[in-house]
Amino acid sequence: MKIGFIGLGVMGHGMAKNLLQNGFHLSGYDRSKEAIQGLLPFGAQISDSPQQLAQVSDVIITMLPNAGAEQEVIFGQNGIISGVRPGTVLIEMSTVSPEIPRRVAKSGAVFGMEVLDAPVSGGASRAEKGTLTIMVGGEEEIFKRCLPVLHSLGDKVYHVGATGTGASMKIVNNLMLGINMVGVAEALHLAKSLGLKPQAVFEIAQMSSGESYALKAKVPRAIQKHHSGKTKTEPGSPIDLQHKDLEIALQIGRGNGLNMDLTTFVLNIYEVAQELGAGREDISAMIELWPQLKPT
Ligand code: NAD
Repeated sequence: MKIGFIGLGVMGHGMAKNLLQNGFHLSGYDRSKEAIQGLLPFGAQISDSPQQLAQVSDVIITMLPNAGAEQEVIFGQNGIISGVRPGTVLIEMSTVSPEIPRRVAKSGAVFGMEVLDAPVSGGASRAEKGTLTIMVGGEEEIFKRCLPVLHSLGDKVYHVGATGTGASMKIVNNLMLGINMVGVAEALHLAKSLGLKPQAVFEIAQMSSGESYALKAKVPRAIQKHHSGKTKTEPGSPIDLQHKDLEIALQIGRGNGLNMDLTTFVLNIYEVAQELGAGREDISAMIELWPQLKPT
C-alpha cells in the first residue's frame, strides 16, 4: 500500500516516520522545504505537489493546520483532486469542522475517492511514539481496510460512525480540554493566594476529584518552565490551535441553537492570550499568563 502524506509539521513528522518504520512506502509533501528535508533521512520519497503525490498513492493522509489548508491542498491548483485515482482513500487527520470531511467526501465521490475523517488526540511525543488516540468517521468497510495504516499511528483507534463523526468527536474532546485548561489556571492562582505550593496542589489534586488531563499533562510542564527560567515552552499544543478548536465548537453549538456562553467566555480568554503574543506557546502557558488574561 503506497501512502502519500501531506503536512509534515509538529504532528505529521512523527506520524510519517512511523509509517516508514512500519514498512510503508511513503511519499511526502509540505509547502515548507524544511519540513520535507526533515523526513528524507527516514527513506521518504518527495512529491512536488499534492497532485503528483495523489498520482502515486493508494492512501493519502492530510495533517494540516486548518480548513483553509485542507481546501488548498485538495481542491487548489495542482491539488489532490487533479491527480487522484479511483479507489484512493483520503484520510483527513487534521482537526477541522465535521462539515469539511462531509463536503470533501461528496466532491471526492465524483472522482472515485473515498474519505475518512480521522483526527487525533495526543501531542508531538505520542505522534512520535505511534500511540495517538484516533477517532474515525466514514464507512466501516473503508475504516477496516485502513486499519493497518491507522494502527501504525495510534494504539487507540475508534470507529465513531458516519463521515464527520470523527471530526465531531475531536471538537467535543478539545472543547473539554480548552475549558479544563483555564479552570486549572484559575484554581492554581487561587491556590497560590492561599499559600499552597503548586507541586503539592498538583500531587494531591491528581489523586482527587480535581484530576484531569489539563492538570496531569500541563501543570508539570508549567512548573518545569517556571523553574528552568525559559521564556518559551517547546512546541506542544499551541494556544492558536486550541483557539481554532473552540471557535469551531462555538460555531457549531450556536448553529444548533445551544447555550454556548461558557465557550464564548473561554474563547475570549484564549484571544487575549493571542493578543499578548502567546499563540504559538503550549496551552500550559495559560497558567503563567492567567493574571493578564482578563476577558475583553
Ligand atoms: P504544524 O503547523 O506544526 O504543521 C502543519 C504543516 O502543514 C506544516 O509543516 C506546514 O508547512 C504545512 N502546511 C500548512 N499549510 C499547507 C499547505 N497549504 N500546503 C502544504 N503544506 C501546508 O501543525 P501540527 O501541530 O502538526 O497540527 C496539525 C493538525 O493536527 C492541526 O489540525 C492540529 O489542530 C492537529 N493536532 C495538533 C496537535 C498538537 O499537539 N500539535 C495535537 C492533536 C491534533
